[in-house]
Amino acid sequence: MCGKLDCYLQSFAALRTDKNRKRWTGATCCRAPHKPFLLLSILDLIASGSITRNFIEPSFGLAETFAGYWSRVMPIGTSGSVSYPFYHLSTSGFWHLAEQTDSPHERGRTVSSVKRLRELYLGARVDDDLYPLLVMESSREKLRRILITTYFALEIQPSLFEQTIINRGSSQYCDDLLHVAEPLVFYKTPLKPATETKRKIRDQGFRKAIVKLYEHRCALCGIRMLTPEGHTIVEAAHIVPWSESQNDKPQNGMALCRLCHWSFDEGLMSVGREYEVLVSPAVRQDNNFPGHMETLSGRGIFKPQGSYYWPNQKNLDVHRDKIYRK
Ligand SMILES: [Zn+2]
Repeated sequence: MCGKLDCYLQSFAALRTDKNRKRWTGATCCRAPHKPFLLLSILDLIASGSITRNFIEPSFGLAETFAGYWSRVMPIGTSGSVSYPFYHLSTSGFWHLAEQTDSPHERGRTVSSVKRLRELYLGARVDDDLYPLLVMESSREKLRRILITTYFALEIQPSLFEQTIINRGSSQYCDDLLHVAEPLVFYKTPLKPATETKRKIRDQGFRKAIVKLYEHRCALCGIRMLTPEGHTIVEAAHIVPWSESQNDKPQNGMALCRLCHWSFDEGLMSVGREYEVLVSPAVRQDNNFPGHMETLSGRGIFKPQGSYYWPNQKNLDVHRDKIYRK
């Protein structure tokens, strides 16, 4: 097994990447970071149990994990699509694409979005010899280390190792929130992350759980929008703020679009005892508020499928009493 690992460590260190110095900064050793970010994302999804077989799909989770690495290292305002490396990694020799049979891809043509990638490919598998090395923790960590130390500047490397801890921890925390009743286990990680890292794990784990339960739909206005890269319009909102409740249970959360999140936090909207949308009289008194908010008044909110996960009325009570402008 060791010989094979050495072989793949060399392959991971010799990925073909764009080396345009005008385009890529010293942070990524003047090289395009797409392929290393894709492989790091796959390692995290295998470690957290989201990928359980040798077939990697161009999933929302993969696009989201890739985007997390991207925003960690790349300048604000830039974005990269996981579709590029997903297609181009086939030059590595260990990555084998599975085409959609009814939509063959004209080779060499750019695949510019995850939506297009999904239309063309079912997914990809890695060499049968490589997959067990990705699953086994000791070899997986060596492969991760070679990616981070080969393709990223020394000062960037700690934040990438931290991102790994956040990705694994937040997936675990999300699972705990969705599946552990009482007591709620705070995430398990042997690495004892620093307080700020813990906060990020908690934030992202709560967000993952809420967005999943509400299927990317705003509980109050019902809007559901996803970009081709898997970016979602909704955020995870606490009903009783975390600073007061320290409560991340799904029953203290709702998925809300930005406008509804702000309105909810400002007390301009709330949820009634029959799970109907409440719109504050303050909205009607001010012509500057958008008219569509009033049309939501009295409509049923969008709730998760299982009633166990619906917002708890005790939490909504607190919001109605203390935050809602009656
Ligand atoms: Zn909304």
